[in-house]
Amino acid sequence: MRLPFQPDRVFFEPASLEYPLGKELYQYFRKLNIPIQKTTSHNQVRGIPGETELEQYRNAKRTLVIGVRHTLKFEPSLPSAEYALPLATGCMGHCHYCYLQSTMGKKPYLRIYVNTDEILEQAAKYINERAPEVTRFEAACTSDPLSLEHLTGNLAKAIQFFAEQPLGRLRFVTKYHWVEPLLRIEHQGHTRFRFSMNAATITKQFEPNTSSLEQRIAAANQVAQAGYPLGFIIAPIFRFPEWRDAYTEMFEKMAEQLQAQVVEPITFELISHRYTMTAKNIILQHYPRTSLEMNEEEREKKWGRYGRVKYMYPKQDLHELEEFFRGQIQAYFPEAVTEYFT
Ligand code: SF4
Repeated sequence: MRLPFQPDRVFFEPASLEYPLGKELYQYFRKLNIPIQKTTSHNQVRGIPGETELEQYRNAKRTLVIGVRHTLKFEPSLPSAEYALPLATGCMGHCHYCYLQSTMGKKPYLRIYVNTDEILEQAAKYINERAPEVTRFEAACTSDPLSLEHLTGNLAKAIQFFAEQPLGRLRFVTKYHWVEPLLRIEHQGHTRFRFSMNAATITKQFEPNTSSLEQRIAAANQVAQAGYPLGFIIAPIFRFPEWRDAYTEMFEKMAEQLQAQVVEPITFELISHRYTMTAKNIILQHYPRTSLEMNEEEREKKWGRYGRVKYMYPKQDLHELEEFFRGQIQAYFPEAVTEYFT
């Protein structure tokens, strides 16, 4: 049974100790005898051991930094939400394709922000600015927050906060199953849990240190029973020799094991695999033996923001994937809503 994240070492930004959560975490790690160091800034952490870059990367993934989020300008998070809600960064998982490897660059360590109240106050400002429109916040843009929840309680706090926001909605996606502490919160249906799913062969090969698909489905049942809106993100979608059979098996398993009544239609978000050359190089550094397929000759170039080139599946292949996935959802979850395919 996989356990939630426990670091090998912890760094504290001095200002974090002025907040109740910072003080609590300091005592918690002291009692556990986990080595504690100070860092002047959560952006400048020095002293993570490792002879090679790969060792440093692996050790950074076992390092936790407790800090204060000073930048209260939230990033956009389309298409799934209007804004990213910054509660933490980094993740204990080792998914070979994880985009955090590129976005976090030299800082793959995990960071927790302790000024949750200030962050949520800022969310309230964004909600007011957009009224009477509903504003959605995504809490999993820079982390998988469920793997840190036992340390922070930040998701619980955010769920309670959004329960009181008629025009605010929270959503996050996870590959973990530790939903238990969140089940009894008064959420008013304002938080949508989404579970990341994939074909069994993909999760087995490329998602080390995450919960199994069975655990994710069991957790999805639990949150649906607790009355939360539920969704699934199928990502990244890969084409491999038996992709049709493998994804059909995934849908079959989900439909068979998902027994709870849902309060709102289940949502599906579908994201096909793509990569940049920068990401490919980083992935091959971090996971040198990966069998992740990243062959430019089989992909089509797409120019993204800042002139970045993404390698996508060719249009015809994407069309085929989209048709297949929409068809499967229609067959196995006829009431569900597919929010987008990209
Ligand atoms: Fe990245 Fe999500 Fe895997 Fe964590 S669980 S490594 S955030 S893809």
